[in-house]
Amino acid sequence: MQGQQQAGHNPSPACIVLDGPIIVGAGPSGLAVAATLRQHSVPFTILERSGDIADLWTNRTYDRLHLHIPKGFCELPHVGFPPDFPTYPTKHDFLRYLHSYASRFAIAPQLGRSVTRAWYDAPASLWRVTTTSAAASSAAATEYASPWLVVASGENAEVVVPKVKGRETFAGEALHSSEYRSGERFRGMRVLVVGCGNSGMEMCLDLGEHGAMPFMSVRSGVHVLPREMFGASTFGIAMKLLRWLPIQMVDRFLLLVAKMILGDTEKYGLKRPKLGPLEIKNITGKSPVLDVGAWSLIKSGNIKIVPEVESFSGNGARFVDGNEMAFDAVIFATGYRSNVPSWLQDGELFTDNGKPRARCPSSSSWSGPNGLYCVGFSGRGLLVSGAEALMAAADIAGRWLQAPISPRCCMHALPPPPPPPPG
Ligand SMILES: Cc1cc2nc3c(=O)[nH]c(=O)nc-3n(C[C@H](O)[C@H](O)[C@H](O)COP(=O)(O)OP(=O)(O)OC[C@H]3O[C@@H](n4cnc5c(N)ncnc54)[C@H](O)[C@@H]3O)c2cc1C
Repeated sequence: MQGQQQAGHNPSPACIVLDGPIIVGAGPSGLAVAATLRQHSVPFTILERSGDIADLWTNRTYDRLHLHIPKGFCELPHVGFPPDFPTYPTKHDFLRYLHSYASRFAIAPQLGRSVTRAWYDAPASLWRVTTTSAAASSAAATEYASPWLVVASGENAEVVVPKVKGRETFAGEALHSSEYRSGERFRGMRVLVVGCGNSGMEMCLDLGEHGAMPFMSVRSGVHVLPREMFGASTFGIAMKLLRWLPIQMVDRFLLLVAKMILGDTEKYGLKRPKLGPLEIKNITGKSPVLDVGAWSLIKSGNIKIVPEVESFSGNGARFVDGNEMAFDAVIFATGYRSNVPSWLQDGELFTDNGKPRARCPSSSSWSGPNGLYCVGFSGRGLLVSGAEALMAAADIAGRWLQAPISPRCCMHALPPPPPPPPG
């Protein structure tokens, strides 16, 4: 790795021209790319905004979280989970695995480096990446340049909180699920959880088990499936059946067995969508809920289902059916989004909402023009991220071996970057 001061009159960030790809994000996807590059003996630089690897799992998830799907579907390339891990590892198990993965492949990301801009400098054939650091000692922006840029900043980079009328007037505590750790401090409180995905359901369960009174606000339909059927994981069964049967038939099977095991979820206020769970996952990326215990609390009335929130007031919420209720706290389990559009000037690989343009069930678009790659945006979890990481790293390695770039490009003084486009 070599550095040089960028040409130009304005105070400009230092520019470090790298002899290998830049990877944005040290989550599971970025680590998988790095490990595979290491195996190809290709140098790399990971830029990670937080102070540790796997920020989502380290800092933005609740205590009781386990992997939603069995460990066999969540392993990163080259190293399996230790055999003594449970079928559904806890988040702490998963983090232990990720840390040992990083040290095994000698992956040392540049931590506390948030990527604020990346653009392709066509005359220099380089991606130029501007970062800022949270550390007071190195507050200045730093610029990196490389012929290859791997976007691994995740589908869950920023929280999504819907704009609801009167939200700022609510006097109780309001938080996003990324800030929730445990139901302990909500004991005895009436808590409204907005959203009924896997996180919303599991937080309601956690609140109920800690003596709080959870209410779950449900806007649209949701498929709830038991996490296991016939002693095997529902996810695993679905994957096996999909090898032989059309998706609609597998969906019908899953829903039939779910009804036998759970009963009629509509009777308790959880409408089932018209399309089946796997079809919805394929089209929208939205996962069905794999029940880990919340369902029995819904049936016993310990978790109450309420409709969509119409507005908030000082002490509670009004729902679209006209009912009003008082709450002590509100938790928004309303998901996340990619932050790629805020920093990547690309226009070809990513859409305006930060997803790869060609994303469809049968293809994951991990490669774009000019040495741009993305890993972890398939909407289909860690297994697919691992496969994408293998492909992206092998592609980069092939190009890197053909064109070692460091001596050549470090001779150039890079021109100052053009101003970012308006907006
Ligand atoms: C509660 C929850 C449970 C889940 N359970 C499962 C499961 O069981 N199985 C499964 O397959 N998937 C699961 N997922 C999906 C999850 O997103 C993936 O497992 C995994 O974390 C994706 O890895 P990633 O590296 O692509 O993204 P992330 O884990 O989000 O990592 C991206 C990294 O990029 C960094 N970053 C973002 N923006 C920038 C920037 N501008 N500059 C520098 N760094 C940046 C972030 O800080 C982060 O460390 C779950 C998600 C959630 C929220």
